[in-house]
Amino acid sequence: MMDSADVVVIGGGSIGCSVAYNLAKTGVENIVLVEKNFLASGATGRCAAGVRQQWGTRENCLVAKRSIELLKDLSVELDAELDFRQSGYLLIASNEEERDQLETNMELQNSLGIPTKELTLAEAEDLVPYLDTKDAKRAFFCGEDGHLDPFKTTFAYARAAERLGVEINTHTEVTDIVYKNGIEQVVTKRGSISTDLVVNATGPGTKYIGKILNLDHPVEPERHQILITEPLENMLGPMVISFQHNSYIQQVPHGGFIMGYGNPNEPHYVNYKHSWRFLDNMAKKAVQQLPVLEDVRVVRQWAGHYGISPDGQPILGTVPGYDGYYLACGCGKGFMFSPAIGEGMAKLITGKELSIPIEKMSIERFESGELISEPAVV
Ligand SMILES: Cc1cc2nc3c(=O)[nH]c(=O)nc-3n(C[C@H](O)[C@H](O)[C@H](O)COP(=O)(O)OP(=O)(O)OC[C@H]3O[C@@H](n4cnc5c(N)ncnc54)[C@H](O)[C@@H]3O)c2cc1C
Repeated sequence: MMDSADVVVIGGGSIGCSVAYNLAKTGVENIVLVEKNFLASGATGRCAAGVRQQWGTRENCLVAKRSIELLKDLSVELDAELDFRQSGYLLIASNEEERDQLETNMELQNSLGIPTKELTLAEAEDLVPYLDTKDAKRAFFCGEDGHLDPFKTTFAYARAAERLGVEINTHTEVTDIVYKNGIEQVVTKRGSISTDLVVNATGPGTKYIGKILNLDHPVEPERHQILITEPLENMLGPMVISFQHNSYIQQVPHGGFIMGYGNPNEPHYVNYKHSWRFLDNMAKKAVQQLPVLEDVRVVRQWAGHYGISPDGQPILGTVPGYDGYYLACGCGKGFMFSPAIGEGMAKLITGKELSIPIEKMSIERFESGELISEPAVV
């Protein structure tokens, strides 16, 4: 492992690998990425592989939109198959309040160039013939949203970064950061790296890296459980999100149906346990929405964490008073943001014109109280 670097990226999830790749692409040299387990072993490899632009804050919409723009050519750029499919996201409103919120979100999205449409229930059934709409009031659809493989994407970023000279060290846990008048050293279980610039991209682990520097980052690990069924013939195009059920269901390219939800009222701590209660509840929610799934077998279930900030938006950029320390974290649904966040962080660090509104997503908003909460996290 290199003992000196211009930049150390901590975290080998989709965001860390995208940041490392984009920094190298921008011309930064001597980049080291350190990951305590294997690449995509955190939230990224446990996620539902959905990418959507149907958000309710301007910042999240713009980050998601930039990611979709980048994804159109990313497979060619990284020279890897990423299974990016724009099969859409169908958001179901089950009461007036949800409908009003989704209408407001759609107006915002449309004003930013995101082509979300409001559908009648008959149109939603045309799109998803097996959908039971008896509890639904209205549906909202964006055909540019869809699916992206989290493992393939993370590994593609990592391999492309390595081709540009980035050193990637897995099974290398950061245990300390030496900070005096600025960052001096990152200490890992496999040795130390002298550096003056660190990017904390540890997702749900963000708070723990912050504690090393005596900082209390407002990023909590929120457990979400998820399952996948046996593969079936292709029958569901879009990801279906229900706010009533607080859940999502998508058929992934190999045919399995992936679905899950989290309990936002659960205490926040790292807990990889998954439960029978989730299996039972999720099965009921799924069959209520897609009765065709009644006799389908579940093959696997697991848990992971959203590393979520209090307003549900990313925390990006510098930390006042801590020279050389950058955050790229805080998003509940950060896998889909990773292309834009990687590009944005690289531009910020190298002083280039920004492609996403990073200044609005700085950690300082929690001091000033300028929070605009994301209303569309599921
Ligand atoms: C069940 C579930 C479903 C989800 N569905 C979606 C979805 O459909 N779409 C979407 O966009 N997002 C989804 N998400 C959220 C998404 O997975 C995360 O927001 C995203 O993957 C975060 O990426 P990351 O790189 O920031 O974090 P991670 O992938 O968690 O990567 C952080 C890495 O840092 C490493 N690390 C931590 N501490 C240290 C240390 N001390 N030293 C070295 N390395 C360290 C970890 O091992 C980890 O690999 C879902 C999450 C879950 C749990």
